Amino acid sequence: MNNDPNNQNNKNPSSNQEDDSRKVKRILVLIVAALIATLLINTVYTSLSNAYLQKITYTEFLEKLDNGEVSSVEFQSDRLVILPRSESEKPESQRRYFYTGWFENLDPAELMKTLDAHSVTYSRAVVEQTSPIVTFIFSWIVPVLVMYGLFSLLMRSMTKRMGGGLGGIGESKAKVYMEKQTGVTFADVAGQDEAKESLVEIIDFLHNPQKYTAIGAKLPKGALLVGSPGTGKTLLAKAVAGEANVPFFSISGSDFVEMFVGVGASRVRDLFQQAAKVAPAIIFIDEIDAIGRTRDSKFGGNDEREQTLNQLLAEIDGFDSSKGVVILAATNRPEILDKALLRAGRFDRRIIVDRPNLAGRYQTLRVHTRNIKLAEDVDLHKIAQATAGAVGADLANLVNEAALRAVRQGRKAVNQQDLLASFEVVIAGTEKKGTVLTDTEKRIVAYHEVGHALVAALQKHTQPVSKITIVPHTSGALGYTMQMPEEEKFLSSREELVVELQTLLGGRAAEQIVFGIATTGASNDIDRATELARKMVTQYGMSDKFGLMALSTVSNPYLDGSTMMNCADSTASSADEEIQKLLASCFADAKRILQEHRSLLDEIALYLLQKETITGDELMSYVNAETKQLPDSTPDGGADGAPAEAADPAEHAPAAPVQPDDPPAGS
Ligand code: ADP
Ligand code: ZN
Repeated sequence: MNNDPNNQNNKNPSSNQEDDSRKVKRILVLIVAALIATLLINTVYTSLSNAYLQKITYTEFLEKLDNGEVSSVEFQSDRLVILPRSESEKPESQRRYFYTGWFENLDPAELMKTLDAHSVTYSRAVVEQTSPIVTFIFSWIVPVLVMYGLFSLLMRSMTKRMGGGLGGIGESKAKVYMEKQTGVTFADVAGQDEAKESLVEIIDFLHNPQKYTAIGAKLPKGALLVGSPGTGKTLLAKAVAGEANVPFFSISGSDFVEMFVGVGASRVRDLFQQAAKVAPAIIFIDEIDAIGRTRDSKFGGNDEREQTLNQLLAEIDGFDSSKGVVILAATNRPEILDKALLRAGRFDRRIIVDRPNLAGRYQTLRVHTRNIKLAEDVDLHKIAQATAGAVGADLANLVNEAALRAVRQGRKAVNQQDLLASFEVVIAGTEKKGTVLTDTEKRIVAYHEVGHALVAALQKHTQPVSKITIVPHTSGALGYTMQMPEEEKFLSSREELVVELQTLLGGRAAEQIVFGIATTGASNDIDRATELARKMVTQYGMSDKFGLMALSTVSNPYLDGSTMMNCADSTASSADEEIQKLLASCFADAKRILQEHRSLLDEIALYLLQKETITGDELMSYVNAETKQLPDSTPDGGADGAPAEAADPAEHAPAAPVQPDDPPAGS
């Protein structure tokens, strides 16, 4: 989450003492390793070179000398190496050298005379040359030095790659990053007005703590930024530091996970010491849930995390808030945090950093296109409308993709087409060039997509279809139908949800009508339809059977909106039946609609097969031509007419505008 490039140039103010002792340890380890390696190499070398030598006695040597088998002799420090005459008919293994121990009482002068007499050449200088010291230096000191050099090079490259010393042992990845000035201000954070408002007080406090301490007011030591990844929590924290013009210290909770006992705690201590030295300052702890998870004794707990958490709690309690150190922490899972962290005087303030709404998305696009040349035709409002559900990071990514596309195509400015195309890249992956579908598969995908589009287009209460394509995308979708909402919606009526269900099931319905088969291509649709139907029955009070009874509650509104059933088991199973009934009736409706417009389905599918991608307008020109002939045959989706009670916007986020389909199995 900390994908700010600035972090790379930050210095790491971790303590020097620790680093020194670690260095000494590392050098010792390297020396031992080099010694062992040299010993091994020496042993192997000696045994290898001896393998060629056969040991003979001095008498045998004299015998060979007399027999004329010896061609030359080499004097070595501890032995005589004897080269046999090559002509002598000896087996391969014995033909190389003869070896004998070097006898103390042997008189070299006398031996040389004997050798001369047999006209055997010898190298006599060898003995004097290799003094024991030189031998020692060459066979021990030099290899050890070479080995040491090699090992330390290896270590260094490994350290770089793994971000920790000695293969990650003993050194932690958790680095404290410090920025003297973040250079980020509130102007860089689009939307999030409520969050900014809550943070203004903290900025004022950092500007002049005396104002608050004079009155005796105690400011919260920390605030918890809660929101999905990419919504701008890190950015906000940096903006607070930037606005207050104080240093920004940051550390990420996830770095602590794989650490050894004690290291995490010392890092935390370090962090607070550093910050206190330069106070006022901001300390930012990203992904605090990685450290601050509820301490569970069930599985024996995680000693390291517990120690780190305890140290963190101790530091928060210990520091004097009048000094002007404020801790901001980010998480998307506040519910799993240890209660101790949320107690008064710790992170007792929660600041929600929501997914941006239409206005927020527009502003985010504006912020990120500030330094980008835009063509005349660019309409950021349209892009903002199409990106319901996207977070700030997605939008930043989208703008960058668009700029890259413009450069690739050799243009000087980004146009609307670039933005629309990169919207598809960000949401549905890039266009797949290599995937080849068989003709039958292509036909099935085409009918499937037109099935979705037609069910939507033939009814009221739907979002207009803006694009249908059967060009596969890298996301694995073989095709998709894009629906663009006309305006941002937070409320959906039962009718609209029913039509959404029918639209989702329209793909499978078309496959069944035309080919009489069911394919794996609909699995994603079925997944989404089931999820929606379950919400309608268990949360939105939209089933006749259960009426307004809530059968499940949202346990985690900030992450994925996952729910928990809170009813009897038997109720849960009849809820399942109800969901099944709802899905079955929507599927039947979708089938009926498509059957009634079978020729239209064929026509459009054929057209899509030819063109691979068609626009919503092209689709509607087909649909309008047909519906003029058959006035007002539009079915109403079997809704019972009662508008739903206000659904919580967080519970029913605007539907993602794309309906990608899973690839069929085996393709
Ligand atoms: P989080 O910490 O919530 O996961 P970040 O703050 O790291 O998200 O956001 C990642 C990037 O997304 C930011 O660097 C910024 O470019 C962009 N971004 C996210 N939210 C916003 C926003 N509200 N306004 C402008 N840019 C944003
Ligand atoms: Zn589908």
